[in-house]
Amino acid sequence: MTAALSGLRVRVRGIVQGVGFRPFVYALAVRNQLTGWVRNTSHGVEIEVNGSEPQLDAFLEALQNQPPPLARIDTLETVVINPDRFTRFEILESQADPNDFIPVSPDMTICPDCQRELFNPQDRRYRYPFINCTNCGPRFTIVKDIPYDRPLTTMADFPMCSECGAEYHDPLNRRFHAQPVACQECGPQVRFEAGGQQLAVKDAAIKMAREWLKDGKIVAIKGLGGYHLACDATNPSAVDELRLRKKRSDKPFALMAFSLEQIEQHCLITAAEQDALTSPQHPIVLLQRKPESTIVPGAAPQQMNLGFMLPYTPLHLLLTEPAPGFPSVLVMTSGNLSEEPIAYRDDESHERLDSLADAILQHNRGIHMRVDDSVVRIHRGKTYPLRRSRGYAPDPILLPVDNPSLLAVGAELKNVFCLTRERYAFLSHFIGDMENYETLVSFEEGIRHYERLYRVQPKALAADLHPDYLATRYAIQRSQEENLPLYQVQHHHAHLAACLADNGWNNDEPVIGISFDGTGYGTDGTIWGSEFLVGGYDGYQRAAHLKYVPLPGGDQAVRKVSRMALAHLWAAGIDWEPELKPVQALCPEERAALTGQLKHGLNAPLTSSMGRLFDAAAAILGIRQTATYEGQAAIELEMLADPDEDEIYPFPFSDGIIDPEAMWSMLLKDWQAGISVNKISARFHNGIAQMTVDVCARLKKIYGANTIALSGGVWQNMFLLNKSQTLLENAGFTVLIHHQVPANDGCIALGQAIVAGRQFI
Ligand code: ZN
Ligand code: ZN
Ligand code: FE
Repeated sequence: MTAALSGLRVRVRGIVQGVGFRPFVYALAVRNQLTGWVRNTSHGVEIEVNGSEPQLDAFLEALQNQPPPLARIDTLETVVINPDRFTRFEILESQADPNDFIPVSPDMTICPDCQRELFNPQDRRYRYPFINCTNCGPRFTIVKDIPYDRPLTTMADFPMCSECGAEYHDPLNRRFHAQPVACQECGPQVRFEAGGQQLAVKDAAIKMAREWLKDGKIVAIKGLGGYHLACDATNPSAVDELRLRKKRSDKPFALMAFSLEQIEQHCLITAAEQDALTSPQHPIVLLQRKPESTIVPGAAPQQMNLGFMLPYTPLHLLLTEPAPGFPSVLVMTSGNLSEEPIAYRDDESHERLDSLADAILQHNRGIHMRVDDSVVRIHRGKTYPLRRSRGYAPDPILLPVDNPSLLAVGAELKNVFCLTRERYAFLSHFIGDMENYETLVSFEEGIRHYERLYRVQPKALAADLHPDYLATRYAIQRSQEENLPLYQVQHHHAHLAACLADNGWNNDEPVIGISFDGTGYGTDGTIWGSEFLVGGYDGYQRAAHLKYVPLPGGDQAVRKVSRMALAHLWAAGIDWEPELKPVQALCPEERAALTGQLKHGLNAPLTSSMGRLFDAAAAILGIRQTATYEGQAAIELEMLADPDEDEIYPFPFSDGIIDPEAMWSMLLKDWQAGISVNKISARFHNGIAQMTVDVCARLKKIYGANTIALSGGVWQNMFLLNKSQTLLENAGFTVLIHHQVPANDGCIALGQAIVAGRQFI
């Protein structure tokens, strides 16, 4: 006699498509002798199962507790239904509901199974550079629309051969419904091109690219989310040439090596860093450089850290495979001119890359969305993101509470935009600095794509207060065209809200947000950047900040560090002594013009920027007088700080104003007395850390706040972060820092979205 049948309808939401979820359900149902079906819908996965109660319980238990490695279950609803008369369990065709949505999986690093097959001469995909399965491979970069099925990806151009088709249709196969499944016979192929000629295809193309790299040439490599520029990282002339062609004077290049063992020859790797390097995302991880490393200094000038990643596609594995005489480390920097977005389309590759690379290792699998590599560092054993992109985007961030459907357009630098819907914040991949037309186009295309993908029709828009940000202008125009309410959110308030959301914060207790960064438009029309804001998602009070100084030339002061230093001294009433390096860096005419500018406030808006205070200190100490990228002088100042120094410079604080004058006097006295730059830098950092805890102690008395949220690009200074965090924690504060999104302006859209969402009813 058979047990009584029960029926169950199960709806699963989360990251459940393109991650092997249906075959997993199929295998689980068959194992528990259940009948019924499973299918993808546009809001997730739907299952109907019939069986005995114990079988159903076992099924549900495993469904919740042993999902496939890349899956993420956000909600699971079950409804008891009358059992139907199924004779078996089957996987049904996808059903699209035009209004609903499901999260799309990010692109995933090649899995261990595929890696084994790649290097197994017996395997039919031996050395096939596009091998993948349900647990790995391209996703977001090839998806044109949902549901995630092959015809809606760039793999639609490649009809499967019979062997791939058999694997694709076999529910118990590792490649069941793996949309990008392919092989040598039917899938994409690589080719090697130089001087307008195709010189080799398939394995020979990879071999030729390796020969050229070995010879010190620069080769553009088409990867997952765009092109990289590669060269031998131990070859000084190759690295110099790449730097010259890219017009990227000092920013560090990312590096790639075949294995952890090879990275270990150049860097120290802690256990947590190893976990990050080998995680499914395979981000670039900033590691401490070993003195004996043979990587040329030009790959990362003036840096103590090197940014390393492991190969994340089969093509990268074949490219970096160790061999006698082959470089152990490759530079793998994004394939673009400095500041432009990464190149990703075949038709633009020659136009954009021919002046940069000697040759191109090309392939014919289309990239629908460009995605840059992600960058993280490990801080106190946890991920501290610097750029959230490949492998992470477009995974949604789960919000503490529901948010209305809206679009937040983000900031000007390191732009990322954000769409929210219910409890999801779809934070885009890294768009970049919105300083040129190319990036603006990339931003607009990205927004359209995400809105289509997630079926989000924004009911409101959120933007920065800065009237000249290209992103803000886009939002203003769109709000007029589509008659949507626009919420302009103060930059440092967005930092505070982003840090709270990043930590799942969900209560009304006031928090002290310490937003230290370079630039943010203030409500009084000045440029803020050292803000102690007390409040939360719903609002804030500006409780303390650095005393205003003029910013000569406005945004130009970012590059002209010596002028910033002189502006700071001028504001502190300190003479420009001729022996000071920033004084020497300017000719008498420039100094006279600068004096006039400062006195009359001509093109010299006021600022409380913390970033500029660091720049000024670096210039006064003679570290550098001009910067080629924002924050460069500050980063070099940090690198010099002596960790064993514990003296501090004072930052007196009254009526919410932090005055750096006393600090400047002592710093100059030390410098004139010949105290080492290392000690002075440390005293400067120590002083700011001590100031943060002193100010917080005072604000705690006034506002009763005991939680501190640290956000803003200055918190990427690890010397300052470590010191401040320790002091604040020792003083009994709870300190929130970023873990999912960067502390820099890559977090702004998230903060804007929540602040605006609270105001929108
Ligand atoms: Zn795989
Ligand atoms: Zn095939
Ligand atoms: Fe900022």
